[in-house]
Amino acid sequence: MELEIVHLYHDLLNTYGDDGNIKLIKMRAEKRGINVNIKKVSVGDSIGNTDILFLGGGQEYEQTLACEDILKSRVDFIKGYTEDGGVGLFICGGYQLMGEFYADASGKKVKGASVLPIHSEAGEGRFTGNIIVRSSLETLVGFENHSGRTFLDGGEALGEVLFGNGNNGKDKTEGIIYKNAVGTYMHGPLLSKNPALCDDLIRRAMIRKYGSCILEPLEDEYELLAKQDMIKKLLKEDALK
Ligand code: GLN
Repeated sequence: MELEIVHLYHDLLNTYGDDGNIKLIKMRAEKRGINVNIKKVSVGDSIGNTDILFLGGGQEYEQTLACEDILKSRVDFIKGYTEDGGVGLFICGGYQLMGEFYADASGKKVKGASVLPIHSEAGEGRFTGNIIVRSSLETLVGFENHSGRTFLDGGEALGEVLFGNGNNGKDKTEGIIYKNAVGTYMHGPLLSKNPALCDDLIRRAMIRKYGSCILEPLEDEYELLAKQDMIKKLLKEDALK
């Protein structure tokens, strides 16, 4: 059994060690006897076969280059793949550019890939810091740093913000789940702190490819203790505000 992961725009969008998420997927899949091949794809390269499509976050300029390349030649592929249940993990800038549009500070709308039912707009000030999100899988912990505000026009939120800002700082939503694609503002790397989310992505990809998937549990004691510690610390800070 084998999974292919494509890291799209690895050289443009990879802030805060976002590619650590791919290493986590590989490690947790391989511990279950599933081989994982990672392919790095950038402007002009072909995507080919993939079971998990990954995009990280980045600066505005690099985000624009990535978005231009998608609009030029990749929209049909990524849209078709996602609509067909292809698994995706799109972080921060990568999450924003998968949406319908990004309205900049002057109100000008920059077209996105229209893969996810979201839109984003420039906001005043940055949302920077740790974040806690309650999701149906587990309580997620991550780190966010973005000035864009994102609004869901469909799909469902990845979870509810318990600490931090999430999609827009207003409606308590964070991220999106649309079919088998996950968009999120959480860097981190997100998946090292949130093993259930990592396994969920592996499971979705395996079921799509092989029709079924049973992942035996792994020893996550230290990951979960570290997360628990972080949650306690942040909620205590919140209570003292
Ligand atoms: N440029 C985007 C913003 O600030 C995304 C930033 C990021 O990917 N960290 O909203």
